[in-house]
Amino acid sequence: MAETQVAHAELVEEYTQANPRSHAAFERATKALPGGLTHDVRAFIPFLPYIERAQGAHKWDLDGHKYVDYALGHGALILGHAHPAVVEAVARQVGLMTHPGANHLLEVEWATRIESVVPGAEMVRFTSSGTEATLLALRLARAATGRPKILKFQGHFHGWHDAVMPGQAPPWDQVPVGVSPAVARETVVVPATLDAAEAALRDDPEIGTVILEPSGASWGTLALPEGFLTGLRALTSARGVILVMDEVITGFRWAPGGASQKYGIRGDLVTLAKILAGGLPGGAVAGRRDLLEPISLPGGSRRKVVHPGTFNANPVSAAAGIACLDLVRDPALQARCDRLAADLREGMNEVLRRRGIRGIVYGDSSTFHLAFDSGLEPGEPHSRSALSAESLKRQRGLPLFGALSLAMLLEGVHIFALGGFLSAAHTEQDVAGTVDRFDRTVGRIEGLLPKSS
Ligand code: PMP
Repeated sequence: MAETQVAHAELVEEYTQANPRSHAAFERATKALPGGLTHDVRAFIPFLPYIERAQGAHKWDLDGHKYVDYALGHGALILGHAHPAVVEAVARQVGLMTHPGANHLLEVEWATRIESVVPGAEMVRFTSSGTEATLLALRLARAATGRPKILKFQGHFHGWHDAVMPGQAPPWDQVPVGVSPAVARETVVVPATLDAAEAALRDDPEIGTVILEPSGASWGTLALPEGFLTGLRALTSARGVILVMDEVITGFRWAPGGASQKYGIRGDLVTLAKILAGGLPGGAVAGRRDLLEPISLPGGSRRKVVHPGTFNANPVSAAAGIACLDLVRDPALQARCDRLAADLREGMNEVLRRRGIRGIVYGDSSTFHLAFDSGLEPGEPHSRSALSAESLKRQRGLPLFGALSLAMLLEGVHIFALGGFLSAAHTEQDVAGTVDRFDRTVGRIEGLLPKSS
């Protein structure tokens, strides 16, 4: 295809023409669902494709287009779509039972597998999502310390319940619409620096819990400063503050035992979801026995922590989770995904360097992120330190990112939230093909991107 400069509007037109069935589905959806969507992250101009089926690293939409998928179930599908072991386990379990209304063996098997790989996972309690996992972790932590407030970091995402909503996006001190101001007051938000964390803990003795993404904000979009995790562990231990490692994304991806294992940092509690349940809904809180045990106290007890949930450890998710964890416990799997991601990042950076675009592709483990900024050196990921939480969160709304994602879809590549995840199902050919398509895409929208002078 000739490298022409096309405006976003032309891309929208071309894409809409090419996707009549998805377009019709979206028109119907806008009448039935707010914004036509079921997750805020899918807000997209003009609309994301409607996916009909998926296999391995690929998925197909209603109009017959095939995509290399880097959204991968929002990071849940480290084995790729429809892995035979997961499909078989789920199919078998659906026929046996989907809800026993009693105990079942799979919940024990599932917990045992978590405890065997996640550092510090002495016990496990299952939930239905990552949001529920962080909700429960904070409740357990408050129960233990008797201190109501939590400390979190700018840009770190922990789901959508009220206590973790403040500080997800700038302006950092704004209470998100609909969130209880009383709950938001108990959440202290600071930049992810040791000085800020130390000052907050020193100045406010009501803070009893610290929660963070051990990858840095939004699965490593913004890296943590050198020594931050070790320093934070020391700070929290010294003050009797509970440290919650939110490993909803990093769990089983950064290493079999997640970021805790990779970085050698043990949280008091670890929250898990996504890969945990093999691509089905599910979450868990794992960690210190003394922190989880108050759930087991009798109803009348003053120290009892209440935690019901109809679908906690539902057997279908448990079956998928067990099948998945049996495969991801082998570190060769993460090593392969990491290698593919490194190749992809390098290939994309080479495109940016060659074309003189002030942008970088960076990331840790098996992820990648894109950033464009006039302050960046083309394709030099070390210049990532020039990125601030404000600039990153803000740039997501810029038209160039909509155009980039859209042009990539037209090339048959689905990137996710300006980045993506690699899986064991991706191949070297997928990666090389993506780099070629990225090259054509950047050529197409070059006029929208910051260039070196
Ligand atoms: N914590 C982190 C670090 C996450 O990335 C997410 C979701 N992306 C959540 C919590 C919430 O998980 P869920 O979407 O399963 O509620």
